[in-house]
Amino acid sequence: MAFVVAIDGPAGSGKGTITKLVGKKMGLINIDTGAMYRCVALECLNRNILPEELEKIEKVLEEIDIRFKRDDEKEIVFLNGNDVTGQIRSTIVNSNVAKFAAIKIIRDKMTPIQREMGKQADIIMEGRDIGTVVFPDADVKIFLDCSIEERANRRFKQNQEKGIKCTYEEVLESIKERHKLETEREVAPFVQAEDAIYVDSTKLTIEEVVKKIVEIIEEKRKSINK
Ligand code: C5P
Repeated sequence: MAFVVAIDGPAGSGKGTITKLVGKKMGLINIDTGAMYRCVALECLNRNILPEELEKIEKVLEEIDIRFKRDDEKEIVFLNGNDVTGQIRSTIVNSNVAKFAAIKIIRDKMTPIQREMGKQADIIMEGRDIGTVVFPDADVKIFLDCSIEERANRRFKQNQEKGIKCTYEEVLESIKERHKLETEREVAPFVQAEDAIYVDSTKLTIEEVVKKIVEIIEEKRKSINK
């Protein structure tokens, strides 16, 4: 296994932005596993498949092809050859992805693909079950937390910037609902790994969180000489 940093954290903790910045600073390939679950959810939604329709989902999983293309500035996500970078962040995907991500056959397909990525390069992988299920032996495990109110606040501001109409209360409710589904599901629930280092981003700026995580990784890297 190459050098693996696992970052798990809830939606709105700043995980995506932070992981990208830390990856760039430390020369680690950044892998967003949430984007993979988002692609599966989008494909099912596009084909009008419900989370209960397991046989149809099985077929989707047989055919699905998810690829990441990176350049210096951004990451492009391809689903079956089409650029879906914007679509996988749409409101409809936001409100349905957790239902699909709780399905065992979907996780059973994604987990080995994610593990394979960790064999090929030094990586920083973000998600919900990276330190617990995907890479229980990761070199560094971070649990990036943030209060639910601050997460809703950040998402609400993002929505306003994007011109998406909603109230703060609606955003808070949808975050709470997603969090409940993720933490209470039977397969790979979102919990902190026992040996993960807890970082709370509620009162910190992005730069402060990046600095903290870079220091944790540097220290670990030195100690294991990898
Ligand atoms: O991180 P992001 O919010 O983009 O993830 C989208 C969804 O994918 C999450 O709401 C969660 O339900 C699911 N997910 C997961 N396991 C991961 C990454 C994401 O269940 N490792």
